[in-house]
Amino acid sequence: MDEIILYNSLGHEKQQFVSRGREVRMYSCGPTVYGRAHIGNLRSYVFADVLRRVLQYNGLVVRQVMNLTDVDDKTIRLAKTENKPLSVVTEPFIDQFKTDTAALHIESPTVLPRATDYIPQMVALIKELLRRKVAYQTEDGSSYFSIQRFAHYGRLTGTAARQLQTGASGRVSADEYDKEQVADFALWKAWTPEDGAVFWQTSLGKGRPGWHIECSAMAMAELSEAFVGQQFEPAHFQTLDIHTGGVDNAFPHHEDEIAQSEAVTGKPFSRFFMHGEHLLVDGQKMAKSLGNVYTLDDLAKHGAEALDFRFLLLQAHYRQKLNFTWMALAAAREARLSLAEFVSRQRQGTDDLPEALAYRLTETRREVEAALVDDLGTPMALAALLLFKREVNRTHLANQAVANLFDLFEPVFALGWQTLPEAQAALELPAEIAVLKSERDAVRAAKDWAKADALRLQLEQAGYSVRDEAAGSVVRPV
Ligand code: AMP
Ligand code: ZN
Repeated sequence: MDEIILYNSLGHEKQQFVSRGREVRMYSCGPTVYGRAHIGNLRSYVFADVLRRVLQYNGLVVRQVMNLTDVDDKTIRLAKTENKPLSVVTEPFIDQFKTDTAALHIESPTVLPRATDYIPQMVALIKELLRRKVAYQTEDGSSYFSIQRFAHYGRLTGTAARQLQTGASGRVSADEYDKEQVADFALWKAWTPEDGAVFWQTSLGKGRPGWHIECSAMAMAELSEAFVGQQFEPAHFQTLDIHTGGVDNAFPHHEDEIAQSEAVTGKPFSRFFMHGEHLLVDGQKMAKSLGNVYTLDDLAKHGAEALDFRFLLLQAHYRQKLNFTWMALAAAREARLSLAEFVSRQRQGTDDLPEALAYRLTETRREVEAALVDDLGTPMALAALLLFKREVNRTHLANQAVANLFDLFEPVFALGWQTLPEAQAALELPAEIAVLKSERDAVRAAKDWAKADALRLQLEQAGYSVRDEAAGSVVRPV
């Protein structure tokens, strides 16, 4: 197994990831099911998926838990607006999430818990925090975590607890807030009329959990033995291996998860925290609140499949911002389909593999493997494969061993390059375009460059790109 290096947000550096056994216990912050996931959200789940797949490629077994936030400020607001029970408004978005992630070849998490199924565990955790006096109750019956009682608050993002505001502004009850508001955060929110029919009657009173405690409870319940039934046993908690999310989850969500979890167990919450960067549109974060979001349906309207988007994502490093454009998506689609077509051609090939190419094949495999374990270097890994493809194309030969190399990495990239019929169909050109292409191929063979250029222009005006490769010309819709 290769040495796996991952960027750990906790140390702000790349670190070697040494597994404590064969099983890796990984928690990924999942969707808030108050709307359909946009492709920005989906970027953070593809990142977690690639991480999981790289670990698996390296022989590890990953137990991945991804939560569904089916109760929080946003879902409650939706239930209120629609005047329907919470579960009725969240259910369709849970289904949609499963459909969208499956289309992107995101492996189903080992466990996909819903927050509303873990209320007793959340209550048990909060009661232990109260018992340890790191949390306190307010007059209205809410419970807050006291960040002054947790010396390491802010370690992840460098947000010092001494910025804590005092007085009435020293508490924040909203699930989402920013660094200017660093303050005690709500663990349990007493019922208010705005919550409508959403509440649980518990030993903490009538109310509902805050968002942050949800993740701690589900992580502890599903990735350690910290709960015996609903009974909380802090001593049984085992530090998680990896916790993932988008960069905007780091503060306050992950800071708060760390604070409450470590305050109650006395152990580190997770050895690694990893954060995926944002998808941007016109230089701005893609976000529902900014109204600049696209879903997989929008991509389909532009003739792109979910896997084309996956390809686009893998061509960027997960810690780099990625500006989404339709042109980049179209280019990703073209590259993916041409790769699929190449692999299938190789699969049927019986040519001999010259020694030099056989050597390059082994070398490429090493390069891809090395790139992947270097903090999930998917852009480098794909570049190595595409370079090798070009080298093979230059020789015009086809050999099964080449296809095998690409197949070897399909469990990591999951780009569907084994599904040839789909790739072929997508590459089929309308009759008039095919005629122009073969006319152009003929004049090129006759070295009539002026005519070839005129035909290229005609193809481009019809919305096609023309690329002359060693093996012939490639014409694709733009
Ligand atoms: P939410 O459903 O709002 O809780 O967000 C789900 C996930 O999507 C979180 O992990 C966010 O960090 C992530 N996320 C939100 N917007 C973007 C974006 N534009 N690019 C990448 N990830 C995002
Ligand atoms: Zn979370």
